[in-house]
Amino acid sequence: MSFGAGPNGLLWRDGDEAVDLSGLGDVFAQPTLNELLRSGRAAWQDAIAAARAHDGPRMPERNVRLHLPFKVADYVDFYSSLEHATNLGRMFRPDQEPLLPNWRWLPVAYHGRAGSVVVSGTDVVRPCGQRKAPGEDAPTFGPSRRLDFELELGFVVGIPSELGERVPVEAFAQHVFGVVLVNDWSARDIQAWEYVPLGPNLGKSFQTSISAWVTPLALLEDARVEAPPQDPPPLPHLAGGRGWGLDVALEVELNGETISQGNARTLYWTLPQQLAHATSNGASLRTGDLMASGTISGVEAGSEGSMIELFRGERFLEDADELVLRGRAANGVALGDVRGRVLPARA
Ligand code: MN
Repeated sequence: MSFGAGPNGLLWRDGDEAVDLSGLGDVFAQPTLNELLRSGRAAWQDAIAAARAHDGPRMPERNVRLHLPFKVADYVDFYSSLEHATNLGRMFRPDQEPLLPNWRWLPVAYHGRAGSVVVSGTDVVRPCGQRKAPGEDAPTFGPSRRLDFELELGFVVGIPSELGERVPVEAFAQHVFGVVLVNDWSARDIQAWEYVPLGPNLGKSFQTSISAWVTPLALLEDARVEAPPQDPPPLPHLAGGRGWGLDVALEVELNGETISQGNARTLYWTLPQQLAHATSNGASLRTGDLMASGTISGVEAGSEGSMIELFRGERFLEDADELVLRGRAANGVALGDVRGRVLPARA
């Protein structure tokens, strides 16, 4: 049960069928969800009720050409999984504490590239960039040798905020329409060389894939669980939001084989805390802002949300590999898949 965008306008996903909502009126005849997004919480509820009751044309989802569901405004990617941050810290900085001193005090993030966010099903061209292996004196430019995925949960802002205004943890559901699955494709070799001291840039910005379906928060109410405890307690402006753990089972399939199974409920920083942090300096929200959780990794082996963690840096994506991310909430609501195939680097 999610909204998407197709050739005639908005679509409603009902099982493995897509229902054409364009007959429901102007908001539903738009090429993207943006108008629905900015219409607010009461209208979102009405839209869900109308979509459920609509007897419009329906067809198998696989036969529909699904578009990017909303026009992405800004894109921010967090780093909210304790297990992922610890695993990556060990690999990127083996001689230091894996977690940097700020990690437990704020949800660390980088600002991504909104213009290269694409819909599920879009192939990814292996990026080129500067890479420098540990034993080399100087970098070389060429195709990434360490292309990876990141399994993430993202949320989509509907109602904007004013410049200077802070959006508190409690106001999350007033502003946020729903969630998508996200694959933050990552070139680890490019990232490792470029990220100091300002964070990821070209190692990430070549492409980010999201599900074609946006699942409204209202349909995930029954999947809400208590998030893991936080130590130390966050500062007052980031306190609360613990009831926003989301019990969403996650799965990654590579060339038809399941390589990872985890759950979004393990996130240390919840989605409302991410939003509160992103606006804590008064930065304004815009309709269509996309914020993603960061890679979701669990404690158990096989629950890691990236290849660098799953295969300890010994295996990465090869040309022609096909990847599918899946998510299913504990109340049975399926999130949209995120599919992508790796194409060779361009000469
Ligand atoms: Mn990421």
